[in-house]
Amino acid sequence: MRVRLFLLIVLSLILTAPVATAETVAGLPLHIQKFDSGAIRVWIGDHISSTATVAFATEEGLVIIDTTGNPEVDGELRRVIARELARDDFKILINTHEHRDHTGGNSVYADCTIVGHELVEEGMKLNADRRQGIIDWFTNRIPELEGELAKLAEDDPEAERIREDLILKRLELKVAQAGGKSFPPTKTFSDRMVLNLGDTTFELYYIGGMHSASDIAIFVPEHGLLMTGDTMADVWLTNTPGCLASFIARPGVRHDFPLLLKNWNALLAKKDSIKTLLPGHWNGELTFAGFEARVKYIEALWTEANEAVVAGSSLQGLLTANLLDTRFPELSGSPGCSQGNNATTIGEMWITVSDQESAAEALYELIDKGTDEAAIRKIVAQRDSGSSSHFFLENQINVLGYRFLQGEKAEQAAAMFKINVELFPESWNVYDSLGEALFACGDRDAAVAAYEKSLQLNPESPTGKEMLERIRGDVSVN
Ligand SMILES: [Zn+2]
Repeated sequence: MRVRLFLLIVLSLILTAPVATAETVAGLPLHIQKFDSGAIRVWIGDHISSTATVAFATEEGLVIIDTTGNPEVDGELRRVIARELARDDFKILINTHEHRDHTGGNSVYADCTIVGHELVEEGMKLNADRRQGIIDWFTNRIPELEGELAKLAEDDPEAERIREDLILKRLELKVAQAGGKSFPPTKTFSDRMVLNLGDTTFELYYIGGMHSASDIAIFVPEHGLLMTGDTMADVWLTNTPGCLASFIARPGVRHDFPLLLKNWNALLAKKDSIKTLLPGHWNGELTFAGFEARVKYIEALWTEANEAVVAGSSLQGLLTANLLDTRFPELSGSPGCSQGNNATTIGEMWITVSDQESAAEALYELIDKGTDEAAIRKIVAQRDSGSSSHFFLENQINVLGYRFLQGEKAEQAAAMFKINVELFPESWNVYDSLGEALFACGDRDAAVAAYEKSLQLNPESPTGKEMLERIRGDVSVN
């Protein structure tokens, strides 16, 4: 009995598991997953979080969901899709959202109608504006990874991951350096859209604000497939979560929580016809229960945020009543769900329901414009005054500090993190972030002091120890 059961399990795994072919694309293993005769998913790599492209054969032509962001790779994948589906009448490309690892290969489908949310184009422009920062980041990161790889034994599993990561990063650097024309969606919508392609229907739902401004979900009833882009996943298949890493109402983008919940709930109601949920990267998996738990979570927070305003309660009260660990234990520890993200999401809701404004956003704007120290002080001082027109969230200030850092604005990032240290002196994480920004500014002594303070507050911090070793190593070399 046990043997037969084992054989059955093995057989069922062979029948449903993605087929790893011996083929490679750009030096990375190619994977082709067949759902049924008219739907496949292709991606490259075994250890990295690359974008997966889904392709459908319909009566009126081929429909593609997302590109990997690299025209060289997407050109190859287009040929693989045509071969696997035995036709090449490419008709529509749908972008799940604006990020370059989903839209960067749109040029390969310039002969198709490109479909996406109306905010995709603006997001693509913002990404293009950050091009120099992206080039600099890759230019620094690639030699670091080469250094890490050189220290590992040939057969170390981590070496294989870094080798794949390096291939992908070199490709991404090449794309960023090449620049070139961008191809935003030519057919857009704001709430919902249905595309009828004869025997196949594509239902598009706006679910933006939880990963980028322009996220959509795509449901294809004839295949029972629901694609959720990069908004959520509840299982990681590798230790490189990448783009799907956080479930959070993004600061600085438009939020329409009632619309988001309306569309999510419409999808939840289709439970019986949803066979498989597909996140935008191959290494994330999403169960229906995981999807449902996230919708119910946002719904509960939104209801309570509205009730808190009516009752005249404070943001702090709302935060305390809705700690992730105690109020939503089913999501605690789930990919992308953290106490910090929870607080940021509550903060974003608070902005839309109360008269208070986000101190993090106000400070970000002031620091970005140039230091109007008096105006900054005026906001910080409100923290202790009873009637504040601003609310203060540690995680939100931290997130926006990192936005400076990613934009190669280390001085501004340090200024932001210094304020966070002043506001939340008991948090090890704010010192950790400050250390990173000070190191990027070249102020090694101050960076060391910040990391030491962070470790003092949290001796278990892995980044603190690693960074102290790195900074001290650099110092002794120079
Ligand atoms: Zn993304």
